[in-house]
Amino acid sequence: MLTLEVGSPVTCGICRRETSVHFVTEREGGMAYDLDCKHRNAVCPNCDVLVRDDSETIFAVKPLCRTCSPEAFEDEDED
Ligand SMILES: [Zn+2]
Ligand SMILES: [Zn+2]
Repeated sequence: MLTLEVGSPVTCGICRRETSVHFVTEREGGMAYDLDCKHRNAVCPNCDVLVRDDSETIFAVKPLCRTCSPEAFEDEDED
């Protein structure tokens, strides 16, 4: 299991920029990582990498991984 601390260097799962962990919170469903790029990431349990947090509430995390759920990103690519 990927574990990250505040200040750990990471690549954002949303904007793909190299950034670092700004804040870590434990939420329903796992850990939420707020990064210096202002994006909120979660860890995909299958790939063990940072991915988009698709939760609709700040109280839970729902990793949405491009590798595991490519269909979820199809609409976005068409924009
Ligand atoms: Zn980002
Ligand atoms: Zn995955």
